[in-house]
Amino acid sequence: MDKKGKESPKQRILIVEDNATNIKLFRDVLVNAGLHVNAIEDGLIAVDEAIAFKPDLILLDVQLKKISGLDIVKQLKANKDLAHIPVVAVTAFAMSDDREKILEAGFDHYIAKPISIAIFLQEVFAMLEPKAA
Ligand code: MN
Repeated sequence: MDKKGKESPKQRILIVEDNATNIKLFRDVLVNAGLHVNAIEDGLIAVDEAIAFKPDLILLDVQLKKISGLDIVKQLKANKDLAHIPVVAVTAFAMSDDREKILEAGFDHYIAKPISIAIFLQEVFAMLEPKAA
């Protein structure tokens, strides 16, 4: 609640993830932390969903069924209305080559799976904080 007694709008997280167990875990953790969460499993609608939902942060699985997260982040960053939204890779990729590939593709950050909940929340909130001027 702010000083006028109005509830400030919740920050919005879009999850793109094709594993139902991960979706449930991420959603539960983020909703508990007071965030507004929308999750989709189909990477092919990720850009349209980002346009419609206007998230403050996108958590994007790299290994999806029909399209790579690497291709999705390129589409997001090529869209002038979406390019400002931080996109975090949530990935089991661990090798340094893969990390480089992830950052080169346009991701702002990455979180390794399996996630530690404390670190996951810390990373999400760090990415939601307005950039220092
Ligand atoms: Mn996946």
